[in-house]
Amino acid sequence: MTATAARSPGVAAAGGRTAFLALGSNLGDRRAHLEAALAALERADGVRVAAVSHAFENPAVVNPAVVNSAVGGPPQGDYLNAVAELATSLDPPALHRLCVGLERRAGRVRTTPDAPRTLDLDLLAVGDEVVAEPELTLPHPRALARAFVLGPWAEIAPQARVPGTSLAVVAAAARLRAAKPGAFEALVRAGPLAWARPRAGRPLVLRDRAALLAWRAALPGTLGFVPTMGALHAGHASLARRARAASDHVLVSVFVNPLQFGPREDFARYPRTLEADLDLLADEGVDAVYAPSADDVYREGDATTVEVAGPAEGYEGARRPGHFRGVATVVTKLLLCVRPDATWFGRKDAQQVAVVARVHADLGLPGRVVVAPTVRAADDLALSSRNRYLGDEDRARAAALPRALGAARDLAARGEPQALLLVARAREVLAADGVEAEYVDVVEPVGFRAVTHVGDEPALLVAAARVGAVRLLDNEWLVCPGAR
Ligand code: AMP
Repeated sequence: MTATAARSPGVAAAGGRTAFLALGSNLGDRRAHLEAALAALERADGVRVAAVSHAFENPAVVNPAVVNSAVGGPPQGDYLNAVAELATSLDPPALHRLCVGLERRAGRVRTTPDAPRTLDLDLLAVGDEVVAEPELTLPHPRALARAFVLGPWAEIAPQARVPGTSLAVVAAAARLRAAKPGAFEALVRAGPLAWARPRAGRPLVLRDRAALLAWRAALPGTLGFVPTMGALHAGHASLARRARAASDHVLVSVFVNPLQFGPREDFARYPRTLEADLDLLADEGVDAVYAPSADDVYREGDATTVEVAGPAEGYEGARRPGHFRGVATVVTKLLLCVRPDATWFGRKDAQQVAVVARVHADLGLPGRVVVAPTVRAADDLALSSRNRYLGDEDRARAAALPRALGAARDLAARGEPQALLLVARAREVLAADGVEAEYVDVVEPVGFRAVTHVGDEPALLVAAARVGAVRLLDNEWLVCPGAR
């Protein structure tokens, strides 16, 4: 049986546009209501769930007019809120009807505005559409005033533009944080949401280029591609899930690329866990895994590598000579064989994203490059295949890195535009935990050049630090509302 035949019905790509949906519940088993809605969306024709934020506990917004009226009743229970990214071929009215149907199925009875509810589904945006109909307004008119929308939305799509505005979602969130800090402080992260998804069979394993090319040549429909070095975790799973939502088929490569490791780096002991990787990818509905040997990718007599200037020069490029040559060369070779419609990369490796986007544009490589936000552990440490090498004490200390970046992000949101001071704030938090940074700097994300000031256009705070035996990389968006 081929991987394509293993696909269950109803798992065809939804394709089309990206939509964002706010989910909320403050009546009954709130988590069960949200998870049932996600499962139903996943099963609906023309809709796929590409990403879901954490759930957030949030006090109910109470309308004083309702509380004081006879129907208002006693104070309401807290909400559980989340935001989902959907890939959909439905138009906004059809998507709206689907959401209203799901609310009804969850037993929601519409009484008064702001009354407690089992399930509330609010479309925030559908593509770039601006809609002003009596039953549906897009973008959602109150989205920009709600921390419980912008907080989770910025987690899954920080760089998406709010339709009808020039603002990135993360900038809209920073603006609201500056205006209503209390609303963000009231939001408490309450773990991830899990929902039932159709499980396809294990992915087909393609061991060499000939097998890959034959599989590709026979493939109908669109192909999403996720290149990895294996030892997969929830960060990689999020890329596969996004690729799955947007494409008819998904290919993941698992290849520990010798060319991107320096002589004193950990190529030999990099974790190799193919069997577990295949299980994780089966859960994400991945069709095939390309897991070649090094001499299938780099053949005898090969004399061509890809050298990138510009974004490859500073930071990681300066500290790991040859690293980005290795990355650019393997990505070029892979994209020319795979010919995907789109390839997903993680923001976790922000400079890699900048380098890959540059090569992709300069060489006219196939398909689109899509970037997905970093997936983090409960203490916000960015997931990484190398985290398994942290001992318990170092693992606890490693959380200083995201905490330091978060402190600088909050300082910027409160009105500090100067990169020097933002970097100093991050370094101060690291020093308090005895973590010494290799670098901390503020850059613009495309050219990866340092900037001196932050404004409404998101800039990246990038950092590298060694904790125990592990070199950690992380980054965070910075916005200083109204500056510049
Ligand atoms: P790697 O296997 O580490 O080379 O990573 C393969 C892809 O997964 C790259 O595009 C990474 O940026 C991405 N990735 C790694 N860690 C994460 C994470 N925590 N969240 C999101 N993407 C990630």
